[in-house]
Amino acid sequence: MCNRAATTREHSPPYAFFPPGHRTNLITVPSCPTHNNRNSLDVEYVRNLICSDLHVNEVGLAMFATARRSFERSPALFRRTFARYRLVVVNGEETFVYKVNLTRFKRIIRAVANALYFHEFGEKFQHHWLVYNATMISENRGFRGLVDTHNPQLRAMLRNVPAAEQHTNQPEVFRYGVYRGQEEHEVLYRLLFYGGVDIYAFGATPEQLENNPQSEPNRGQARDSAILKDQRSEFCNVL
Ligand SMILES: [Zn+2]
Repeated sequence: MCNRAATTREHSPPYAFFPPGHRTNLITVPSCPTHNNRNSLDVEYVRNLICSDLHVNEVGLAMFATARRSFERSPALFRRTFARYRLVVVNGEETFVYKVNLTRFKRIIRAVANALYFHEFGEKFQHHWLVYNATMISENRGFRGLVDTHNPQLRAMLRNVPAAEQHTNQPEVFRYGVYRGQEEHEVLYRLLFYGGVDIYAFGATPEQLENNPQSEPNRGQARDSAILKDQRSEFCNVL
């Protein structure tokens, strides 16, 4: 999405998000070789993060089987991903919460939003994206067991924002909706991964970011955590 020659195609979401059997007729956009995320470690990290989320469907679970292999191949990746974790019980089953690297997460989600915008409107998005994941839990809740009043309210509000459902060929992996307001920067993407991981990207101007730093919804939960779907026992050989 820079001014260099776009001599490659990039998938959006990245190709690595799609497990075997779900790789046909994906959305692609032109990209310069430098900014093509195809083989990026951030993509692998974020794909693993999303497909291991507690809320994914069967396709997400199949993708997570692949992700687990990437952890087995690279104990360093595993240690970095789960540098901070805590055992918890969810629906009677033991699993764990771990701290998420939001910088990497947001970088990849912004790239997805940029690509979808270009795919849809045929031009580059000229503003910034604020990224918010509606399935992560706050660090205070995940690690200290504190009650979170802010995020449930925000999520209830977001679910009511009108967003047109766009057609995708692999809806079990990825679906999205887009809402456009009056102003050019007023664009909201709702990205739904593996049937249950709800992520939002909001367009914002630099002035909005500067004048109101709190406007970034994720700021208050900058050290978010995610709940893993899998049991600890499946990781104990690497831990
Ligand atoms: Zn570029």
